[in-house]
Amino acid sequence: MKIYVLTLFPEMFQGPFQYSIIGRAIENEIVDIELHDIRDYSEDKHRKVDDYPFGGGGGMILKPEPIFSAIESIKNKIRKQDGEHVVADTKVVHLSPQGDVFDQRKAMTLSGYSSLIFLCGHYDGIDERVIDQLVDLEISIGDYVLSGGELPAMVVIDSIVRLLPGVLGNRKSIEDDSHYIEGFIQFPQYTRPSSFRDLDVPNVLLSGNHEEIQKWRIEQSIKRTITKRPDLFDSLESDRGIDSLNDTEQA
Ligand code: SAM
Repeated sequence: MKIYVLTLFPEMFQGPFQYSIIGRAIENEIVDIELHDIRDYSEDKHRKVDDYPFGGGGGMILKPEPIFSAIESIKNKIRKQDGEHVVADTKVVHLSPQGDVFDQRKAMTLSGYSSLIFLCGHYDGIDERVIDQLVDLEISIGDYVLSGGELPAMVVIDSIVRLLPGVLGNRKSIEDDSHYIEGFIQFPQYTRPSSFRDLDVPNVLLSGNHEEIQKWRIEQSIKRTITKRPDLFDSLESDRGIDSLNDTEQA
């Protein structure tokens, strides 16, 4: 997968993209992440990319010209390198507090595209013509306002990259994760020692009986969802939710 990020602050991405799972995915050429400074596309001699909002108001707005130029030039590059079909399989994602709230299902959908272009806003936002003409989807990481789209882009990219084939050694760890089955969080996990300060790991996990362990995990997952995240559970038709867990058990 190829990921392009349009930002005013490319330096912010250096740390998070260098280490751990994303760092390894880049090293192993499973994903290629290209950072583009929006200012590089400004034709202004002072590299200005923002201006006052028409109608007045507090903040500055990112101008349309550099962003149009950046996205068109990235798409032209994809067209030349990989062909029109890859351009067609590329989505432009605007990080915005006005977007659909991000979740695991959206991460899975996005992980299926050939290329993604993430557009990070700043100041009071972006000229609406960019959103109308160039943006395929708007994603929010929650109902609060951050200073820029950089941290949301990192969050969304991390969640997508770990789903790409070959990134995690064991696919099972993704399938056991919270939210893999929509509406459920993960069962409790323990590691050695089996007893610590008189706190014992549940016996079933030490039994070696995989069927019993799986049954216990499903029960725990349901219990935890009800206690920790009843909002998830309530939003499912209960039959459908429990059936989907049983499907996993039988698989
Ligand atoms: N005035 C804008 C509004 O009310 O919708 C908010 C602008 S915010 C200060 C600057 C930029 O941060 C936005 O353009 C967006 O890219 C990013 N941003 C802020 N909060 C976000 C969130 N919850 N999710 C995704 N991006 C966010």
